[in-house]
Order: sequence, then C-alpha cells, then structure tokens
Amino acid sequence: MTPLPLLRDGIVRGACPHDCPDTCAMLVHVRDGRAVRVQGDPAHPVTQGFLCTKVNRYVERTYHADRLTVPLRRIGPKGEGRFEPATWDEALGDIARRLDEIRHGPHGPQSILPYSYAGTMGLVQGSSMDRRFFHRIGASLLARTICSAAGVEAWKHTYGDRMGPTPEEAEHARLILIWGSNTLTSNPHLWPAVRRARDRGARVVAIDPIRTRTAAQCDRWLPIRPGTDAALALAMMHVAFRDGLADLDYLAAHTVGWEALRERVLNEWSPARAAPTVGLDEGEIETLALEYATTRPTFIRLNYGLQRHAGGGMAVRTLSLLPAVTGAWRDLGGGATLSTGGAFKLNNAALERPDWVAPGTRTINMIRLGDALTLPDAGVGGPPVKALVVYNSNPGAVAPDLRKVREGLRREDLFTVVLEHFRTDTADYADWVLPATTQLEHWDVHTTYGHIYLTLNRPSIAPVGESLPNSEIFRRLAARMGLTDPAFADDDLALIRQALDSPHPSLAGITLERLMEEGWARLAYPADWRPYADPRPNTPSGKIQILAPELARLGLDPLPTYIPPQESTEAAPGLAERFPLTLLSPPEHPFMNSTFANVPALERAAGGATLLLHPNEAAVRGIREGDRLRTFNDRGDFFARAVVTDGVRPGVAVSYGVRWASRSECGRTVNDTTSQGVADLGGGALFYDNAVEVEIA
Ligand code: SF4
Repeated sequence: MTPLPLLRDGIVRGACPHDCPDTCAMLVHVRDGRAVRVQGDPAHPVTQGFLCTKVNRYVERTYHADRLTVPLRRIGPKGEGRFEPATWDEALGDIARRLDEIRHGPHGPQSILPYSYAGTMGLVQGSSMDRRFFHRIGASLLARTICSAAGVEAWKHTYGDRMGPTPEEAEHARLILIWGSNTLTSNPHLWPAVRRARDRGARVVAIDPIRTRTAAQCDRWLPIRPGTDAALALAMMHVAFRDGLADLDYLAAHTVGWEALRERVLNEWSPARAAPTVGLDEGEIETLALEYATTRPTFIRLNYGLQRHAGGGMAVRTLSLLPAVTGAWRDLGGGATLSTGGAFKLNNAALERPDWVAPGTRTINMIRLGDALTLPDAGVGGPPVKALVVYNSNPGAVAPDLRKVREGLRREDLFTVVLEHFRTDTADYADWVLPATTQLEHWDVHTTYGHIYLTLNRPSIAPVGESLPNSEIFRRLAARMGLTDPAFADDDLALIRQALDSPHPSLAGITLERLMEEGWARLAYPADWRPYADPRPNTPSGKIQILAPELARLGLDPLPTYIPPQESTEAAPGLAERFPLTLLSPPEHPFMNSTFANVPALERAAGGATLLLHPNEAAVRGIREGDRLRTFNDRGDFFARAVVTDGVRPGVAVSYGVRWASRSECGRTVNDTTSQGVADLGGGALFYDNAVEVEIA
C-alpha cells in the first residue's frame, strides 16, 4: 500500500477527478483528520478559487451515510441489491478463484471484460494497475467510446494532436461561438474568460438546439436543428470563400485539400441551401458567417455533445476547419477548442503496458454492452462474456439501450465485480461490490482536456472504512492470481514517476518532487500559446488535413461534409414519422454523468425528471405544464414531468441526466430509449441521435 503522509490539520492540495475539461486544483481543508471543506485553488490561473456546484459537495459525498465501507457479497437475486458484508480476504480470494476458473475454462481469458470510463480521470486510479492486470490475464480489450470517441478520432484525422486555445488565451477573442456547449454547467472555468473578453467588447453567440443556462447569457442564441452543425459550418465557409474573406495564404501554407473544399462549399453549401437543413433563416446564417469571417480573433468552443450522432465525427472535423479557412489560428485566442488533451505527452505506455496485450485480442465497444452481454459471441466474435469487472463507471445508468444492458447484467452465469463508492444501478447486479476510495483518500496525477496544467492529487484523509484505491485492489488481485511481474509491485508514487518519465519537451522540469511542492505545473508551451499558428501536425501528410485520404478507406468522404443523424427525417423518414421528436439528454447542472445523483442537496436541486418541449409540440399533443409524460420508442420508455418552454426548438425534446434508474419512476431513465448505434468515426456513441414520441401517461 502506498504511504499516506496525512496531515491531521491543515490544507492539502488535490485535483478534481471528474470528467470535466476544467480539472480544478482543489484545496482540501482537514481538521482532526477529517475533511471539512474543499475549495478551488485561488492561485491556479484556470481554477481561480472556485469549484462548481457539484464538487463543492465533495465532502458531503465522501462521508455520505450510504458510502460503501466493506466488501459486499450478493445474497439475493441479481438486481435486487441484497448483500452481506465480507472481509477483503474472502472477497479477493473468491474473485481470484472465479476469474482464474473463467480464464482457464473453455471460453478462455477473453470471456473476461473490464468496463471503466472516467469516474476518475486520474491516471493512477483510472488507467494503470487495472490495465496491467487485464492485459496480463489476456482479457478482452474495451473500446472506451462513450463520451468523446468520434470527435477525438475526427481531430486526429484533421490536425493530429488535440489542441486549442485555453481560457487563458480565449479571453483575447472578439467573437466567441459557444457551439454545442453548456459552458456554465460543463466547462464553467471558461466563463470568466468569456466575461473578460466581453468586457473588451467581444460578442458571444450560442449555437445550440437548447437555450441552455449558458445560451441565455449569450448575446444571441441560434437554435440549430440537432446534428446539423456541419451543414452550418459548410455554409459559413461558403460565405468566406465567396466574399474573398478566406485566408488563402494560411490555407496554402498549412493545409491539404483546401481547393477541393472551396469548390464543394461554393457549389453545394450556400446559406439558402443550408437553411432548411440547419433550421435557421438564410439571413441568420449570412450574418453569422460574415461576422465570423470579418472579426479577429474568433474563438469557437465546441463540445462533445454535438458529436453524439451518426455523423458526429464529420461534424467535429468540419467545424474544426473553420479557423483554418479564415486563418483564425494565427491569432492569440483564435481557433477552436474541442480538447487540449493532445498537449499532454505523458508516458501512458509505461503505466498501462500495452505490450502485454496478446496479438489478436478482441475489442468490445463499451457502448454496445447490451449486445456484448446478451449475444453468444459478445456481438464481435469469440466467446461469450462470462465475467464483467466494472470500475470508474456505472453502466447500469449511463450505458445506452439500458433494457438490453439490464437483461445482460441479470444473467445468472455472468460473474460481475463492481468497484464503487455507492450501491449504484450497476452494483445492484454485482456478485461482489468492493469499496473504493474517493479522491480525498488516494494519490493520483491528472492531465486535462480544457487547459495545459498538470495536477497532482495528494490524499488528504485516511480511507473511509475499509475502502481501497483501485490501484491497490488490482495489485492485490494480481498477487492472489499469482501474477508475479515486478510491475505489479509498483506503488502509486512509482506509477506517478513512471507517468512523468517522458522525453517530450513540454514536460521538461515537471517532476513528482515539484508537483509535491507546488501542486500543479503548466506544461512548457509558450506563454502566448497558438498551437496551430505555424503548425507541424502529426497527420500522415504533415499538414492540416482538409482532405484526409485515409477516411476514404473507412468508407467516408475524405472531404468535410454533412452526415445527417441516423434517426432524422433525412436518413430515416419512416422512423421519424413514428417518432418525430429528437431527444437530447445533456448533463443536469448538479450532476456529473451519474455521479452526485445521490447527494441529497444536489438531488433536491435537480428535482424530478422533466421533459422540455416547445409549446407547438405540446399543443399538438394536448400536453400542459406539469403533465406526467411517457417518452418512448421501440427500445424502451421512461417517465418525466412536462416543462413547456420556447427554450427548446420545435422537433426537440430534452431531458437532463444522468439519473439513476433506482431513483427514477418505474426504474427507467432516458437511457432506456438511447441506442447502441455507432458514430461515423471512433466507434462513438449516439446518445443524441434518438427519435422518440411523447404521450400523457
Ligand atoms: S467538475 Fe469541473 S468545474 Fe467542477 S470542480 Fe471538477 S473540474 Fe472544476
């Protein structure tokens, strides 16, 4: 076990572990060995002294009365959530025996499936000893696609590494497009930069089917049809080329394929042509396009919501090229940010040991868990899944097509282990539930995808009850299963050192000792960071790839284009007739995916499940404010109260999530209606490509 040099009284530096681009530097106040308060570090240039609504409740969550404190063994039917306490010795002994039986049994080791995502973004507790363990025993690989995969893959084909202006640069912009991002909920530390930009005269435009709390604060809200963002971007490019506002020098110097793009957008994507597709007036598109092409600097904050449909990868790729067309990348604060994750060049291979993966090991896409657990070949070929080990995730709430997922989790012949803080919707189906530590109780190191500071997390309190860090649980399990490689003996501080052991110049001078001293460190990029001003992208061509020939080999258009959502009127008119509303299920302000949904103050703040509908949609269905609604499609249904509002565009329904099924009416949630379909790139999820109908229940 890694040493915990704990303070009894004082302030301990930490990092917010959650799946959020802000990765706040936290200060944890400790009194008599107990955490009493968490606070944003006022010295951190992005955190600026504040945490969000959710994480301000981290102490309450840590000491929650329902916190798991000992291993639990199932004693009732799967799904009922009846358990008895057990010792670690009993738990690890039985889990090791069962996993050994399965890996040496007729179906072999690939019948074991790990399932994890971003319950913590920390490298030690999220992707180190766990990966070593599963790679060594020969388990199936998991494609971790549930959030960002389509956009990540799109950016890779276009720019190579994911980079873009951070809040420190963005404040210099004069026009900010908040595109598919509810910034005040999902990226709140960008907002002070937006405000500073505004103080200097910048205009802020929200492009979103929903008038989110962020859109309501912007100068203009453009209620675009869901999934049509690429069409709007193509029309904006049309105007830039048509009116001689494109930066041809930048395009010629740094991109490949721009001439073909120019021809395409001039011939095919006039604002008049795009208007019915995107659901905005031709005039609105013209105005936006001219404003974008004639202002400097311009900053676009696009977020992952807009890539959760069948054409999501192509949408990100297309939007990302707007600043290449206008040359906005040249300017301080100019460009577009999906993620800054590519700026971090840590030694992930040392942590995860991908060299241990046997050639030919199959990969299962995490968003197809329903199929993986219910089909005899897991839906991908090979053996059925006989063991599922879940950590840092709650697929019983967050996975799409939950009816299928629950059917799989109920299988009596499936051995399920869940590492958790609470008895979640997934834990209720487990054979064993193992109590895991929270961020206050373990070591970790954090990269981020919203800025370029690396952050250390020191433990501030002793583990609550008998909980253990994920890293330690896998370390002990490896020992129980006779895995003797010295890599399983590395403690958490050794793992952090290994992560930092990278020759990349951006990590020069960043050591564990320095992080221990200072808490966080900026990567060694220039102060006025302009990642693509004079780029040398690590793409196959060494240029920004407007034309990406490798996409043709994947059956996609190698040039930016518009791919409609698979459940839209354009792609599936028959389906859209039966289910005429597109259901969007973005994050509820007080929740972080399914985390925090059981914290009383936050659950109260969120209230019960609601369904937002435009007055026209409500009127044709005879729906009034407060009615109990059933939202359904062929996959399933859920219940929510009607909110009738012009804050969503016609044709759209909105239900904020992610709620726990066990805390929802009839045990069903929005994810009973979402599909296991896969996006055009990266195997990404289609949460917002979801046609439904609504009726009064
Ligand atoms: S969830 Fe985001 S905004 Fe909230 S504390 Fe964590 S990093 Fe900061």
